Amino acid sequence: MELRKDPITRSWVITGDDVPDHAPRAEPFCRFCADAPVAPQVVSNMPGVEGAVWSARAVVHPAPLYRIEGEPTRRGDGIYDRMSSVGAHEVLVENPLHDRQLWNASDAEIEQFLLLLAHRIQDLKRDARFKYVSVFKNHGANAGQEFEHPTSQLTATTFVPRRVLYELRAGRDYFKAKERCVFCDIISQELQQNQRVIEVRGDFIALCPYAPRVPYETWIIPRTHEAAFERFGLTRPANMLDLAALLRRTLQRIRTVTGEFHLVLHTSPNTLFQSKSLDYWKTIDDDYHWHIEILPVVGGKAKSYTFKEVYYSPVTSESAVKLLREARIEG
Ligand SMILES: [Zn+2]
Ligand SMILES: [Zn+2]
Ligand SMILES: [Zn+2]
Repeated sequence: MELRKDPITRSWVITGDDVPDHAPRAEPFCRFCADAPVAPQVVSNMPGVEGAVWSARAVVHPAPLYRIEGEPTRRGDGIYDRMSSVGAHEVLVENPLHDRQLWNASDAEIEQFLLLLAHRIQDLKRDARFKYVSVFKNHGANAGQEFEHPTSQLTATTFVPRRVLYELRAGRDYFKAKERCVFCDIISQELQQNQRVIEVRGDFIALCPYAPRVPYETWIIPRTHEAAFERFGLTRPANMLDLAALLRRTLQRIRTVTGEFHLVLHTSPNTLFQSKSLDYWKTIDDDYHWHIEILPVVGGKAKSYTFKEVYYSPVTSESAVKLLREARIEG
């Protein structure tokens, strides 16, 4: 496996003919259940709630795309750039139980899962090789789900993923022109207009973005300005219970439309070790704002995923929000 940079878009891709086979192996047990006969390689455990031994845990991915050992030495190849695929790839087990998902677990359990994310991101950012830590969840066959057990995944990479880089550049440009955070401005306009807001809970707001990439696209954003999710989570842990409840309720709403979705956490890149070539980190605490994006996979309308030159969503956010607001949810 190696990383190659597209010289035109400047985005990195991971490629290789030795890509691990992600087809689920026929095992008579689930390797992530609390009582699995073969214990996974545990990186970190969160304390159990409601009598459980642990509530959420990070384990090494059984077929990692990135390897932790080595230096990400960049090598030129004519006009091209390549790097070895140094990084971290972890499975984040959301719950010890096989059927407790982020939409039907208790808020206390989900809170521990969110705190696990904060701890893992903070820990991996101490490694100067890693420029970014991504957390994502693919749920459903059409979304590329890998394991049956309730899990998310984490990768720490030697580069900033393309979508985040777009957001960082746009955030920086907006701040340069207006001296304000574009996300804070979006939040205040959305709360004022109240046409695309699904729900407000404590400091958090769930909304359908003005220009959705897919039908029912939903963001969860804190109203308090903060660039880094992990700093927010670890310095204001009392807020995580509200985020847990809003995430659970939002996923319940989305599940009334489709059971399949992508979820991604966007936090700031690693600014502990400042880059000589990239200057986005100079104002990042002012111009970036962490958030969660949920991209539902809507059957028959999946065209918007395959034709990515221009996103096409046959449902406007104003219509989507009506359905999601009125969805019947529990708790
Ligand atoms: Zn399991
Ligand atoms: Zn902001
Ligand atoms: Zn984002």
